[in-house]
Amino acid sequence: MNADLHCHSVVSDGTLTPEELAARAKANGVELWALTDHDEVGGQHRARAAAQAHGLPYLTGTEISVTFAQQTVHIVGLGFDADNTALIQGLRRTRGGRGERAQEMADGLAKVGIANAYEGALHYVGNPELISRTHFARFLVETGVCNDTNEVFRKYLTEGKPGYVPHSWAKLKDAVNWITDAGGMAIIAHPARYGFTPNEEYALFTEFIAHGGRGVEVITGSHSSPEALRYADTALEFGLAASRGSDFHSPDESRIDLGTLPLLPDKLTPVWQLLADRIQ
Ligand code: AMP
Ligand code: MN
Ligand code: MN
Ligand code: MN
Repeated sequence: MNADLHCHSVVSDGTLTPEELAARAKANGVELWALTDHDEVGGQHRARAAAQAHGLPYLTGTEISVTFAQQTVHIVGLGFDADNTALIQGLRRTRGGRGERAQEMADGLAKVGIANAYEGALHYVGNPELISRTHFARFLVETGVCNDTNEVFRKYLTEGKPGYVPHSWAKLKDAVNWITDAGGMAIIAHPARYGFTPNEEYALFTEFIAHGGRGVEVITGSHSSPEALRYADTALEFGLAASRGSDFHSPDESRIDLGTLPLLPDKLTPVWQLLADRIQ
């Protein structure tokens, strides 16, 4: 099935509205869709309504920022009740430090001669509670400091670089519990993107499962084909269901468009099989 269960709208760091994404997913042949904005479910009602208007089956979604072993890990939640109070409050707390962090990022950039980056980034922000590194990256591309957002991350926004500010996100246990207690499924996003040692990665998967996590992204816009094969095996090894999502952010920035990924390998259990009764 052409399921695309990971993408971002202007409610977090994407450039399209939930309605524009629903239309694009439909046009690209997506058969099951989820909008997964970072640390936020504010776009869920709009996304579901737009999907339904296109006759496109929908799962609620979010992507929660977590700190595990001093690194940032993303946990996707699918099929939860988007009105669940504990989930909404947990996400609000997770978003809480972003404003201050952004000011510190701008201070770091000012020290290397890039002025007014906070104001510049704000210009791209659709949701004032969700200022992210992506918005700074867009500002640095617009002002000609870098040629593309990838270059911005490499030179300015990753560990050790002038605009990087370490941050403490949600705890793994809390993120998994918010999703699961709201009736949804927790999924480890793009596992190949983390800089873990084999031991740390093993700890991530075992703790995630112990807390009630049940899925892992195998086919994602952030995996190469060898990485997808590797995490297909990891899914089988840990008895996790497999997810598929482009992680689409913007027509101008994203390598992989909505609905254009390879299919999940046959040997895996798709997350949507376990979420059949949550599809709207
Ligand atoms: P934040 O939550 O503010 O730390 O921002 C994280 C976001 O930055 C991710 O969700 C991606 O959208 C984006 N990002 C991270 N690394 C890169 C990269 N190397 N190139 C482009 N975008 C990136
Ligand atoms: Mn993002
Ligand atoms: Mn992510
Ligand atoms: Mn994402």
